[in-house]
Amino acid sequence: MRLLSALRLLLGGQFGEIIEGSKRFAAGEFDYRIPVGSSGELRKLSETLNFMAAQAGLKMREAQLRRLELEAAFRDMPEAIVVTDGSGVITRINPRARQLMGVKGFEAEGMWLSGMPAGPELSSAAIKALASGRPVSLEFEPPSAPGTVLSVSASPIVEDGAVRGCVLVARDITGPRKLETMRKEFVANVSHELKTPLTAIKGCAETLLGGALEDKEHGPEFARSIYDQAVRLDNLVADLLKISYAESGRDKLEKRAVDLRALADGTVKGLSAVLAGKKVTVKNLVPDGLTATADRDKLSQVLINLLDNAAKYNREGGEVRVSAAAEPGAVRVTVEDTGPGISAAHLPHIFERFYRVDKARSRELGGTGLGLSIVKHLVELHGGSVGVDSAEGRGSAFWFTLPG
Ligand code: ADP
Repeated sequence: MRLLSALRLLLGGQFGEIIEGSKRFAAGEFDYRIPVGSSGELRKLSETLNFMAAQAGLKMREAQLRRLELEAAFRDMPEAIVVTDGSGVITRINPRARQLMGVKGFEAEGMWLSGMPAGPELSSAAIKALASGRPVSLEFEPPSAPGTVLSVSASPIVEDGAVRGCVLVARDITGPRKLETMRKEFVANVSHELKTPLTAIKGCAETLLGGALEDKEHGPEFARSIYDQAVRLDNLVADLLKISYAESGRDKLEKRAVDLRALADGTVKGLSAVLAGKKVTVKNLVPDGLTATADRDKLSQVLINLLDNAAKYNREGGEVRVSAAAEPGAVRVTVEDTGPGISAAHLPHIFERFYRVDKARSRELGGTGLGLSIVKHLVELHGGSVGVDSAEGRGSAFWFTLPG
């Protein structure tokens, strides 16, 4: 102490300034600078300390920035993250995890993982990871969000060979799972749809080859059957191509003003064979001069599918009415028929792919079960919506809107 005082006396204020500066650096004030005196050795010492402080300040700021980056990622990432200590007590949890696991506020920190609403599954993954020191993965449906499928991976935090805790990362995979199921169902449906006409074609061809070719009376029936099934396959492949094109994302709209009355007239002419076969009368009630901003070809496809159904599923000698009206910000087009109608049980599914009320009847009429799903896709591509008003025995009114 006496030596320090002696030194202070000897070296004057410079020494005091160095001590003061060192204290401030130690307190984290890295922007502070020691005034640099004139005396040789002490000047060097002050400069070195100032340089050290500047470097330490730089490193601190970098570390702070990294910490803020990690904080932002932890807070805003779509994955749910829970960190536990070695005994399974939550030390950190991000907002997405709180939302997915059904815990609100900050009360989850300090809680046992097993005590959380989605705890049992998570805690079993964490326990396995903590005990084995290896990552563990699992999928489950949290009770707090029924219908949601979570994919969880639990990774141990290892320090010097000892497991100190566990990081759980959970992703919501409900969407991809649903898509996968839909794709599987689609492939199964397509295979089934292709198999039926192919089996029929094979059967008829075998019968013809087996001698029916010579049979002047029944032979042509088999040839006719082969032709009908080939038409069916052709329709199916055409509809599948439309769907595949729609799903490729290349389905672009070339919008312009389309005269709806003229479009309905043209579509009816194109379907004259189907309409004549059923002896149905078509009434075009679309007002003159009403237009919609739409892709003409796609809109025409929508009308073809709806008019074709209205004729196919109509009674013989029935009627089909096409009407349209302007609504605030949209145009609504309706295709009504005098057919058997659709019962309430089937209505919610009618626009689904391959959904048919009466499978055999649809096939017999050359249907693919894809027509209405194509209608829905094309209308929604325009930003509109589709629907149907129907009841058993009362006919059906299929409608769609197009934004004006
Ligand atoms: P399909 O090729 O079988 O006609 P769609 O997707 O066009 O396929 O229609 C799906 C099903 O909806 C049909 O199989 C039929 O059962 C029912 N449906 C469609 N339009 C009508 C209608 N106007 N009246 C009664 N049922 C209909």
